This record gives sequence, C-alpha cells and structure tokens, in this order.
Amino acid sequence: MTHKNFKSIEKTVFGRGSFNQLDEILEPKRTLNNAYMVFIVDHYFKGKELESRLPVHEGDLVYFIDVDPYEPTTEQIDALRDEILAKKGLPSGLIGIGGGSIMDIAKATALMLTNDGSSTLYQGLNLIKKPGVYHVGVPTISGTGAECSMTAVLTGPEKKLGLKCEWTIFDQVILDSELTASVPVDKWFYTGMDTFIHCIESRDGILNNAYSMAYGEQSLKLCRDIYLGENAGQSPENDDKLMVASLMGGLSLTYSEVGICHALSYGLSKIFGEKHCYANCLAFQHLADFYPEGVAEFKTMLDKHGIVLPKGLSKNWTDAEITAMAHVAYNLHHMWNHAIGTDWKEKISIEFIEGLFRRL
Ligand code: NAD
Ligand code: ZN
Repeated sequence: MTHKNFKSIEKTVFGRGSFNQLDEILEPKRTLNNAYMVFIVDHYFKGKELESRLPVHEGDLVYFIDVDPYEPTTEQIDALRDEILAKKGLPSGLIGIGGGSIMDIAKATALMLTNDGSSTLYQGLNLIKKPGVYHVGVPTISGTGAECSMTAVLTGPEKKLGLKCEWTIFDQVILDSELTASVPVDKWFYTGMDTFIHCIESRDGILNNAYSMAYGEQSLKLCRDIYLGENAGQSPENDDKLMVASLMGGLSLTYSEVGICHALSYGLSKIFGEKHCYANCLAFQHLADFYPEGVAEFKTMLDKHGIVLPKGLSKNWTDAEITAMAHVAYNLHHMWNHAIGTDWKEKISIEFIEGLFRRL
C-alpha cells in the first residue's frame, strides 16, 4: 500500500479583516512574468463594498464571474485563459475571491495559463504538465473545502472531474470570515452541510485513519456548535468556526475519501446541473441505511433551521436520465471502494444505484 503524501497550502492567514493584507501579500509577486495580477471575483460582489477594497493596481485585470446556476465548465476555463493570454500575456498571479466555484475557476485558470490545449485534456490525476502561475484563494462562503483541496472540479462535455495535482493547491489562502457575513441562510446551510457530509463520509469508510479522523472530528464538533449548539445560527463567532470547519473537513478528506452521497451528487450535477452542496443535501437525506447517525443529525439540523428539501423528484425523471446518473456515480470507483469496501463491485451495480436515485 502506498500512503498519501500530499502538499499543503503554502501560506494561510486567518482572522477577521485579514483581507486587508492582500495588497501586501501580493507585493513581492508583482514582478513575476508580465507584472500584472488577475482578480477573479464572484459576481455577487460587483458594486458591493468589497469591490472598492480590491487591491487593484494599474494594469491588473478584474473579472466578475456569475457562478449561477451552473458549476464551472472546461469550456469556460479555456475561454477565460485564452482571453487573459491574448490581452496581456502571462500574469504574475491570479486571485480568486468567492465560493467553491470561484476557488475552482481560480485554481483551474492558474494551471491552464501555462498548460497548452483544452482543460478537458487534464481532467484526472496528475495529468497537468507544468506548474501554473502563483494563485491565491479568498473564500467568501464556507463549506466545500475547495480552498484547501488539490482539485479544481470542472464539468466537461464527457465528465465532471477535477484537474488534480500538487500544483492545483493555492500558494496562499486568506481566511477572513467577515467576508461570509452576507451569505443568505439557505446557501449558508447547504454549503455548511457539505463540510458536515465530508466529515461523515471521511469517517464512515475503509480509508479513515487517525490523521483524517483528527481533522474530521474537530470539524464535526464545530459543525455541531454552529448548526445545533446553544448559539446556533449565523454570527461572527460561528462564521469563524465554519471557515475553520470547512478547511479541516477538506483536510480530513485529503487523507481519506468521500462516499456514496458524493457519488450520487456528482450524478445530479452532471445530468441536471444541480449545484454540489444542494445536490449533496438532496441525496444525503435518503442515505440513512449507509450513514444512520449522520443522516439523523442532518435531519435535526434541517428542522432546527426550517430548511425543507424537496422529495419525490425522481417521479419527473426519465429512466434514461436515472441510468445516466447511475453511470456517473458508478464510475467514481474510489468513493464506492471507500464507503462499501474493496469488494464493492460484488455489492453495488448500476441497477442498485438507480434504486438509490429513485429514492429522491
Ligand atoms: P458557489 O461558489 O457556487 O456560490 C454559491 C452562491 O453563493 C453563489 O450564488 C454566490 O454568488 C453566493 N455567494 C458566495 N459568497 C457570498 C457572500 N459572501 N455573500 C452572498 N453570497 C455569496 O458555492 P459553493 O457551494 O461554495 O461551491 C460550489 C462549487 O464548489 C461547485 O462547483 C463544486 O463542484 C465545487 N466544489 C469543489 C471542491 C473542491 O475540492 N475543489 C469541493 C466541493 C465543491
Ligand atoms: Zn463536497
């Protein structure tokens, strides 16, 4: 057995107001390549106070990107890369400010600026040939762990799969939970539940180990404070905690693996374009036979925050759609292997997974 040997984020700053240090952080990098920076910012912040706080210097490029309703695509990354290179050549660095979608767009674009051809060529593990440009992640909604993961998930014409390698990891992350204060309650819930589900899936599978558990358990404890504790709900204190929980949930996964909920969620995203965190919630509520304790807790959290998830969705799906989703899910072998065990192929079939989708 080969043990995982992974790179971490090079530098991390944590604290309310730490976004103000971005200019100073970028300063020593500004002489690299063609001496300009690219800011990729969630469209939500256009015209908001944060726009005026971006440390934009003369010659920098700023893109506001609308991440709704679809997840980042290979086509979108290729077009953005081509546009940046055509405008000004290779930048010194790239800064992503937003949620998981922007984190992934920033990571993928940083890599694709130095790797030729379409990003579809690099969907998978260690397919990227050259390190990308310096890249910084500034999460503005907590939960996905995309700020610390070594993958930039993209939906392509054939697959939803990440550009996964050491160079994907951010050189710098700024964890300033003040930036998450404006997240609406439903998105706060769904995205935070991604962290919760990461921890449950990381724990309940064969790859769990003392290292992944240490991060996962601490992250779960924080999730319980935030969603079930005496002071549950959105608050500066809980925003701090969720930002750390997201990071730790992600680190837990890096050394373990996600499971059945994520396999189903990928199917929902690929076939219906459902957003990752919401798709996870749609699936997780029906997985009590795999994750009894986790699903029970999840339902308590739904009730506490008055979140109602739709049921009976599969009534409106065709057999072909269900089969297509089941194939997407089945092909995530590593997730089934972790959740079910090395003999998973004897227990899990396409028909079985179709049955799981029919529960929704
Ligand atoms: P997101 O980036 O898609 O954003 C969700 C919504 O929240 C958007 O409408 C956005 O405008 C809004 N938003 C963000 N910050 C806000 C703020 N401060 N105030 C108000 N609104 C704000 O959401 P997400 O759930 O963080 O990310 C989902 C994406 O992350 C998916 O594309 C998924 O594939 C990806 N993902 C990646 C990884 C990874 O390891 N790379 C892991 C999990 C998910
Ligand atoms: Zn997830």
